[in-house]
Amino acid sequence: MRDNEFTKILGWPGYRVYRHEIDEVAKTLRLWVRRKRGNRKLICSGCGRKFADAHDCNEREVRDLPWGEYRTAVIIEVYRVCCPQCGVKVEKVPQLPSKAPFSKRFEEAVGLACESASVRQVARQFRLAASTVRAIDLRYLQRWSATRRKDPLIQMGVDEIYLGKKMKFITVVSNLETREPLWFGVDRKQETLDEFFRTQLKENQRERIEAACVDMWRPFTNSIEQWAQNCRIIYDKFHILQHANKAIDEVRRAEFFRKGGRMRGVVKGKRWLLLTRWMNLNSQKRQQLNDLFALNRRVMKAYLLKESLERLWTYHYEGAMRRYLQSWIDQLRWQRLEPFQKLAYMLLEHLDGILNYCRTKVPFGVVEAINGNIKTLLRRGRGYKNLGYLLLKAQRMAVTKTEFIVLQKAA
Ligand SMILES: [Zn+2]
Repeated sequence: MRDNEFTKILGWPGYRVYRHEIDEVAKTLRLWVRRKRGNRKLICSGCGRKFADAHDCNEREVRDLPWGEYRTAVIIEVYRVCCPQCGVKVEKVPQLPSKAPFSKRFEEAVGLACESASVRQVARQFRLAASTVRAIDLRYLQRWSATRRKDPLIQMGVDEIYLGKKMKFITVVSNLETREPLWFGVDRKQETLDEFFRTQLKENQRERIEAACVDMWRPFTNSIEQWAQNCRIIYDKFHILQHANKAIDEVRRAEFFRKGGRMRGVVKGKRWLLLTRWMNLNSQKRQQLNDLFALNRRVMKAYLLKESLERLWTYHYEGAMRRYLQSWIDQLRWQRLEPFQKLAYMLLEHLDGILNYCRTKVPFGVVEAINGNIKTLLRRGRGYKNLGYLLLKAQRMAVTKTEFIVLQKAA
């Protein structure tokens, strides 16, 4: 095979192979490339200015995509230019996106593989160290992020995620319309969200925000009220229902501890059943719940209350929604269900943000879905030390809607 045939197969625009070396034992292919005759314009990697003359020339070796079974290295001549703005600076070469010893298309192949498999699996596939794969993936995502269009933020979601003992909580800001996370902040204080508004948005961008879907968490709502004047706060249905789940769990536990003995056996292991919606249970599970209800009316009442609360969000008119909530609260009278009374009080306290759903429709569940994606990533990646990497990963996941391939471990 002649060098111009190697040039054709390599397919690096503007470059030709002038020397090659094949090692049949080690299964490696080494290709030396330099600029083609017509490709003489040098571009400063600092400012993009064009130059005709080079300052000097060096060789760089990068790993490229394999040729069949052969691991391929490309040794490339790279020039430096004498730029009046940047000083002596290396030229810009499209196939060399970073200082790391990999070609752009090699990094892209690794990044793409990382979209659907864990770092460990990709590391094994490419025979790289896991840390190298992570670094390549991060650069791949940064390049992707740098070139994409940023949509305006009109409806935002704010939520928190628990990252474990060390990191504790992070605050997640998302765009409800594009269904992707926008920003992560350490902790979940008012100052945390303040930082988002201050560093990520300009004043006119803050003014454009129309709605925020949040939990009933005072530090967040305080921050939103302060920074985004035109923004309506809407309490997320999922979060409110989570509070209802917490209430029913408290009722269950109170009944469990008070009764002891026989009741203990009946209530035991029913936690999950009580937290699951009736429509999602099969007939056998429903029977189990009915048996439980026959023994304990209080738990039944609590379950019905939890079930009926969800209907609140089927109303489109403020008055109707308010009336429904009032009738729901009326049912609590004489029930002595302490946790639900507390919940009712909480709902009344936050009534405006609940009714706001009638004024501005926001897609519920987006915040939850983003949350779920981040948790999947965390499980897969075994902890992210770099929050910026985690954010890019979650954004890419939202855009490509990738599902992780679950590969079974070899026995
Ligand atoms: Zn320059």
